[in-house]
Amino acid sequence: MTITPITAPSQEPIQGQLDFDRFFADKLSGLHDGGNYRVFAELERQRGCFPRATRHRGDGSTHDVTVWCSNDYLGMGQHPDVVSAMHEAIDKCGTGAGGTRNISGTNHGHVKLEEELADLHGKQAALIFTSGYVSNWAALGTLLAKIPGIICYTDALNHASMIEGIRHSRCEKRIFRHNDWKDLDRLMSQDDPAAPKLVAFESVYSMDGDIAPIEKICDVADRHGALKYIDEVHAVGMYGPRGGGVAEREGLMDRIDVIEGTLGKAFGVMGGYITGSKNLVDFVRSFASGFIFTTALPPALAAGAVASIRHLKAHDDKRLAHQEAVRKVRAALDRQGIPHMANPSHIVPVMVGDAAKCKWISDILLDDYGIYVQPINYPTVPVGTERLRITPTPFHTDADIAHLSSALCDLWSQCALARAVA
Ligand code: PMP
Repeated sequence: MTITPITAPSQEPIQGQLDFDRFFADKLSGLHDGGNYRVFAELERQRGCFPRATRHRGDGSTHDVTVWCSNDYLGMGQHPDVVSAMHEAIDKCGTGAGGTRNISGTNHGHVKLEEELADLHGKQAALIFTSGYVSNWAALGTLLAKIPGIICYTDALNHASMIEGIRHSRCEKRIFRHNDWKDLDRLMSQDDPAAPKLVAFESVYSMDGDIAPIEKICDVADRHGALKYIDEVHAVGMYGPRGGGVAEREGLMDRIDVIEGTLGKAFGVMGGYITGSKNLVDFVRSFASGFIFTTALPPALAAGAVASIRHLKAHDDKRLAHQEAVRKVRAALDRQGIPHMANPSHIVPVMVGDAAKCKWISDILLDDYGIYVQPINYPTVPVGTERLRITPTPFHTDADIAHLSSALCDLWSQCALARAVA
């Protein structure tokens, strides 16, 4: 047999063709120039020391930091019940699921987790996905693509995963003003009353920490016969007597057709889900490519999530301790005149209002004060509203809170930033 030698690829670019590497470099330098190039803080979480972590500097050295921007809001990622459930599941089942849900990947633990989630939200059924992002993208993308002639009404500040799911479906869409149920009503009234409709919104909005008028939105949606889809990613585990979210707290779960959530924030693990009626969930299970054609979550993640959800269902005291920590942080910031957005949630946006100063403050907090809080700049938030998104936990001590507020006080003076008036 003769083997044809493989010739080395030509090094010369073909005339007129895109120089890929130059293209990537130019795009990246555009991000640098606009101050939007993302640099990761390299952390190593320390078991049992939440919210402390070790930060690895690029030069090989390390130092201890206190994390003030984690979405593991209640420290469940370190909870002994969750950790031991995951250990036990690994010992029993090994690591990966071994396949898609349809082809050998459905573990008993996945089914138990779906039952637990359906119960959490008072729904007939639940379906888990590999992340909250995928659950929004796949569920909205599928519902909106497969229901003929459906119109989607989407809040102006909905998360990227919802926007991408809606876009992917290519359905008709209308964007209503943020949290403005009157605008929603106006837009819905302009469309054919017989057209099928879906309203997509969130409960707690992640960057401003404001909360949707869920009941009003449900009233409007019901008047127009629409399906109601809510993202409770920042609320599950956090609100309601069993951690079912804001809709549970307000007694509205049964008015919503799809409650979507994550296992990666308050529940401290990873994965996403939807809950709803048996037929709706079965429909998404049967048609969503983002569910069908991907490997199932590792059984250990499912076991950890079940332990976490069960714990938070039974421990309203965790939520109360958390709310107390949030109150203390806001009061400490008020004493120093550090401006923060007033909102009814656990998210404390400290307003800087300048991209360069926001990044500088975040860098100095990390390097000199051992405080880690990531700057949030455009395009995540509008220009002029750059901020530090602070997420207190029940594990931040009074000393941590005092250290944070006095560090911010120093840096506010150094940047000549305006103080809030009491
Ligand atoms: N929805 C919202 C509102 C979010 O903020 C996020 C993540 N930050 C997601 C969905 C995606 O969730 P996950 O991180 O589990 O992919």
